[in-house]
Amino acid sequence: LVVLKSVNKHFGALHVLQDIDLTISRGEVVVVIGPSGSGKSTLCRTINRLETIDSGTITIDGGPLPHEGRELARLRADVGMVFQSFNLFAHKTVLENVTLGQVKVRRTDKKKAEERARALLDRVGVGAQADKYPAQLSGGQQQRVAIARALAMDPKVMLFDEPTSALDPEMINEVLEVMQQLARDGMTMIVVTHEMGFARSAANRVVFMADGRIVEQAAPEQFFSNPRSDRAKDFLSKIL
Ligand code: ATP
Ligand code: MG
Repeated sequence: LVVLKSVNKHFGALHVLQDIDLTISRGEVVVVIGPSGSGKSTLCRTINRLETIDSGTITIDGGPLPHEGRELARLRADVGMVFQSFNLFAHKTVLENVTLGQVKVRRTDKKKAEERARALLDRVGVGAQADKYPAQLSGGQQQRVAIARALAMDPKVMLFDEPTSALDPEMINEVLEVMQQLARDGMTMIVVTHEMGFARSAANRVVFMADGRIVEQAAPEQFFSNPRSDRAKDFLSKIL
């Protein structure tokens, strides 16, 4: 579904993505881990074209990434993204946050979009908050609204970039549970996270990055019990 071939990117002199080859199949859950600065966020951002690449190709469903205009808006809808900071529209209600993109990008009629928004808000456990503003919600609730907003666009794949790392500990699980459920429902997901429990229980594959390269990838049980590279061993010894 998502295929990266020989992708390279520089920030000035920094070679932030080096010959990245990565194929993600439909329904697969891939957890990306690695030290700070290894290029995990940049990798995610290239997939929905928040960052351009210098060479190589990225395709989604066989098609190349569009460059601009309505096609780009559609790509951002097809590739749902949830960040560390919740990025909700502060001056719109929760319901409006989840309705807006459906109407603007997917051209869904407003009434249908609202129905779908309410159903999704229920599904992530914040249905009762629909008429509040983001600032009136806890971090965990806001993040679940952000997930509902991305899901409302009927994405082909969901990208999560450290979705729980800005949350208080007691709110982390409620967000991880929503993600677990999504994974079980068959959503294709790329998840950057330090939550190794989630990686073990939800991931089909762990991708370990260091210095802009994919150093190692394996099934979680294999990766955690028997990492092959010294970089991965060193990383795991620090976080586990
Ligand atoms: P973290 O775990 O801290 O989130 P990461 O693996 O997500 O790290 P990236 O955010 O992808 O790492 O950054 C990779 C490298 O690229 C870092 O050295 C960072 O400083 C640099 N970088 C990221 N964005 C930019 C930018 N817009 N301009 C210049 N350098 C950047
Ligand atoms: Mg990052």
